[in-house]
Amino acid sequence: MRELRGIGVSPGRAAGPVLHLAPPPSLPSPPAVLDAEAEKDSVRRAVALVAAELTRRADAAVEDTAAEVLRAQVLMATDETLTDAADAAIEAGSAAPHALAAVLAEHRAAFEAAGGYLAERVSDLDDLRDRLVAACLGRPMPGVPSPGHPFILVARDLAPADTAGLDPSVVLGLVTAEGGPTSHTAILARTLGIPAVVRCTGISQLADAVVVALDGGTGAVSVGVSHDEAASVNAAAARLRTSWAASRGPGRTADGHPVALLANIGGARDLTGDVEGVGLFRTELLYLDRTDPPGEQEQVEAYAAVFSALPGRKVVVRTLDAGADKPLPFLRGGLPAGEPNPALGVRGLRVARRAPQVLSTQLSAIATAAAATDADVWVMAPMVATPAEAAEFAAACRAHGLPTTGVMIEVPAAALRAPAILRDVDFLSIGTNDLSQYTFAADRMRGDLAELLDPWQPALIALIAGCAAAGATAGKPVGVCGESAADPDFALVLTGLGISSLSMAPRSIPAVREALAAHTLQECRQIAKAALAADTPQAARAAAGRGAG
Ligand code: PEP
Ligand code: MG
Repeated sequence: MRELRGIGVSPGRAAGPVLHLAPPPSLPSPPAVLDAEAEKDSVRRAVALVAAELTRRADAAVEDTAAEVLRAQVLMATDETLTDAADAAIEAGSAAPHALAAVLAEHRAAFEAAGGYLAERVSDLDDLRDRLVAACLGRPMPGVPSPGHPFILVARDLAPADTAGLDPSVVLGLVTAEGGPTSHTAILARTLGIPAVVRCTGISQLADAVVVALDGGTGAVSVGVSHDEAASVNAAAARLRTSWAASRGPGRTADGHPVALLANIGGARDLTGDVEGVGLFRTELLYLDRTDPPGEQEQVEAYAAVFSALPGRKVVVRTLDAGADKPLPFLRGGLPAGEPNPALGVRGLRVARRAPQVLSTQLSAIATAAAATDADVWVMAPMVATPAEAAEFAAACRAHGLPTTGVMIEVPAAALRAPAILRDVDFLSIGTNDLSQYTFAADRMRGDLAELLDPWQPALIALIAGCAAAGATAGKPVGVCGESAADPDFALVLTGLGISSLSMAPRSIPAVREALAAHTLQECRQIAKAALAADTPQAARAAAGRGAG
């Protein structure tokens, strides 16, 4: 048996035979075009066929996110600029499939050049090209196989059209060679509850029917497991799902020490099940793909929809986190163009320096929605680097009548100055995704740097420990809302360090709840101490008694 490594993006374990996504159609060598009008008709028929198929899938999708993504693809396919450009290519001598492929290649290059979020959407365009080319050539649509038995789906990357139709009882797990933690594969797999690993080197070389076991938490993929082992992995996963479905109530260690288990959401529709509250409301999702910012009233409604679903419960709203991997078209005018290192540039709270009205409108909208509902609304800023920035943000919140203000700790400078920051704010929330990226100088989207981005890295644990200690001294809460909070074993470390709340995708909460309930606070402290004393992530896991990683 050998092990491949990728990034775990949707927790859970699964095992089964590998099946690759049906390959995309290859273009035949360019024929001479004798009848340009017939080629243009062929383009229109292909567009109509593909749009109808994608619409059918959108209507059948059980999941809102999936349906929206598919509808966005229909819009791309039926956009007149696409057919106009294809017509022009046909006039210049191309056949229909070649014309469509060339036009979509130009769109793709533009998305890639834009970088970040848009660059991750190139799989949507590739999928559209493959479908349109297949339709022109009269070939079957590329897509997910249906062999009549459960399997592990392997692909270079998955387009929304593929992921949206997935049935979790047949597709037991997903492994992709590309994609990042914020790609559609990751987002949709998490929402569907299918264990998934992305950026897994070597997965494309596996032959169909090889049996693998994957861990969507750690990113490990074991190749060549026996059928018996696969059956026992799936049986254990099924038992876990049943016990998780029944698991309820607030987060507590075995001896009753409370650790709030909160949800990371992008809007009201992500609120599933019974949650103690929201620890990270990523408001930037409201602003994505817009050329104008959402108006104040639109924001009030979006915030109120979340607050009114959680009367009496805590909702931590994060103000706009734009820039780098989250480019916002409407801010483009205010931001420097072509930054060489956007992740080190104007992003997060720094955007407010360029566009102060964006922050003040947002704070007004949050305050209005909070006043109209009964949620316990807390507000925090992303990407704070200094105590002065924290103090300025807290003053702005208070001026808008928002009494509970905090900051995210995502920059090592802020972690080191946590005691000073806590003089001006009421709480800290550690964003371990960015804190890892900036501590290890390792782009969080790079699968090949996954080892540096491992939350068990002792340097990261030391920074978290410093923040937790600062919180204890100040008597103020310190939570974690990065992906590391969703790792049940790492949650024990965080609890042992004194972290008071853990915020994660709602589906991840039951496993963390179970892990906490099985350990006393003293055991968590011992696990944390052992992890902190280690020199490598593997040693940290092993020292904490969580296996060699
Ligand atoms: C983080 O950086 O850990 C975090 C929670 O913020 P985001 O993932 O939205 O950047
Ligand atoms: Mg962040």
